Amino acid sequence: MNDAIAQLIELQEIDHKRGDLASRVKGLEAQKEQLRRRAQQERSAVDKLQEHLESLKRNSLMMNLEVDKLDDQIRDYQDQLDTGIISFKEMEALRAKIGNQRTRIGEMEDEALQLMDEIEETTVQHAQEVEKLAVREAELDSEIGKIDDHVAQLQQELAEWEAKREQLVEALPRHVVQQYDHLHAKFEDPVVPIENGTCGGCKLTVSGTTVERARDGMEIVTCENCSRILYAR
Ligand SMILES: [Zn+2]
Repeated sequence: MNDAIAQLIELQEIDHKRGDLASRVKGLEAQKEQLRRRAQQERSAVDKLQEHLESLKRNSLMMNLEVDKLDDQIRDYQDQLDTGIISFKEMEALRAKIGNQRTRIGEMEDEALQLMDEIEETTVQHAQEVEKLAVREAELDSEIGKIDDHVAQLQQELAEWEAKREQLVEALPRHVVQQYDHLHAKFEDPVVPIENGTCGGCKLTVSGTTVERARDGMEIVTCENCSRILYAR
């Protein structure tokens, strides 16, 4: 067999390995991205719970301030009742206001109690979720670390194949490499054997002359139909 053909077959094998390694790296990168996204989602769920907890606390604080304000108002109305010189009608109005405020305070105190319960439950739940998240993040980090190691290993292999390819390319005539690269852009298998008088790539019959020329191994022979480089087994 022609030396160049043997080298082209080797080049093709290297390119298959490179393609395989590159697609495995791509798959691992996608897997890593998925894990990262999952970690983000889980963290954002816990962040949301924390925001909810903070808003409950803010509501509770506002409610207490509101109750204090109503209390102050009642005291003020009471002072007016006790010390002010006001008409009977005004006294009635003040008493009605005091009554309303007390009812409102009662309602708000009930709401405040419910809110306190909710805050307590949410605090416990949040603490649990934070703990779970820490465990999950450690797991995901370790999975991502393993993927990184694997990718690094594959890339190392890839670099070794690249170096071998470069050596091979340097040994081949430039136009032959160009011919191969041009075919490789179209086909995964630019170099194929002749099988029972047919091209191993497109499966169409090749001429007897082509078969003979390939058998001679004096030159690079191509398929009349698909232009793949042919060799005789
Ligand atoms: Zn062909």
